[in-house]
Amino acid sequence: MTGTILVTGGTGYIGGEIIDQLLAREYTVHTTVRDAAKSEAKLRRRWPDAGERLKVFSADLLSDDGWAEANAGCDAVMHVASPFPLDVPKNADDLIIPARDGTLRALEHAFSAGIKRFIHTSSAAAIAYGQPHKNHFDYTDWTDLTKKPPPYIQSKTVAERAARDWVAMNAPDMAYCSINPVAVFGPVYDDDMSTSVEMVKKIVDGSIPLIPNMGICITDVRDVAEAHIRALEAPADTVRGERFPTSQKFMWISEMADTIRARVPEYAGKVPTRRMPDWLAKFLAHFMSEMRQIKGELGNVRDVSGRHTEEKLGFTFIPAQQTLEDTVRSLVAKGIVKV
Ligand code: NAP
Repeated sequence: MTGTILVTGGTGYIGGEIIDQLLAREYTVHTTVRDAAKSEAKLRRRWPDAGERLKVFSADLLSDDGWAEANAGCDAVMHVASPFPLDVPKNADDLIIPARDGTLRALEHAFSAGIKRFIHTSSAAAIAYGQPHKNHFDYTDWTDLTKKPPPYIQSKTVAERAARDWVAMNAPDMAYCSINPVAVFGPVYDDDMSTSVEMVKKIVDGSIPLIPNMGICITDVRDVAEAHIRALEAPADTVRGERFPTSQKFMWISEMADTIRARVPEYAGKVPTRRMPDWLAKFLAHFMSEMRQIKGELGNVRDVSGRHTEEKLGFTFIPAQQTLEDTVRSLVAKGIVKV
């Protein structure tokens, strides 16, 4: 399939990688940003040869303005935009409302424009939280909102649930599916990178002096984009209603540090070696918002399987060790981390 694809959130880390891959595969791309007057020049610098194959539209998740124009002439939508801030907002609605209403807005406008395929960038946040006795998860699992997980996790879960309900009620024939990435790392384009990559940056630049007892699942931004494009190109019946987690491997932060030391020793001088005891992490949480965010994760295994996605969409994820190496090399090459 080639055609015209709307990618929302073209200024973002994942949105940018998807646009990169779509343009490389000869698609025409429409993308939404909050303010095209501010962002278009930067996007054109990234894709100087795209010309008419890239069109940039202003459309905010919280307003209807611009959405009809962005959808006009498109064959499919990849709805990527959603707030993903580093800090936890005081009011969960600051994230939930744009995530949910923005997704419904994107769906409604896609439907009005006659678009039959909608690929929604959800998250493993909608899969693996609020189930304290579980360590292993897959595409069939849902975060339990009654356990009041943190605002970002609520926002992604509420948005995906709302999207599925909306499609079931209004557009049951639409080939809607979600892509549910775990923590996304990989090469960065510039220092305007995602909250997720900040974690690798902090490990390498020395801002984490001791290693907390926590772990995360890792996926590569190139695989996240690949999953979106495979979900676009697969037969409609293969993707309709599906959830596609992208997740290569669960790793403790200590393993991430060891991997970076082994694969890129020349950049690992500030990578911490000593462990932070849990009591210290809990104590620091009284004063430091970053420690407050990870306090509930100490010792937790949240291993989300991406096997279903590899099997259904027919590709193999990049090994997490390679992803970490490429993330570090890119952070150094772009001057974001000084070693
Ligand atoms: P990102 O770089 O922060 O991108 C977020 C995008 O959403 C940006 O383009 C941002 O626009 C846009 N956005 C936020 N609020 C908006 C609003 N009110 N109106 C219009 N656009 C708005 O983060 P990312 O990592 O690429 O995340 C992209 C998607 O992947 C999100 O849906 C996120 O939940 C999901 N995801 C990310 C990860 C990860 O580890 N990175 C994991 C799982 C799922 P501005 O540039 O104007 O702020």
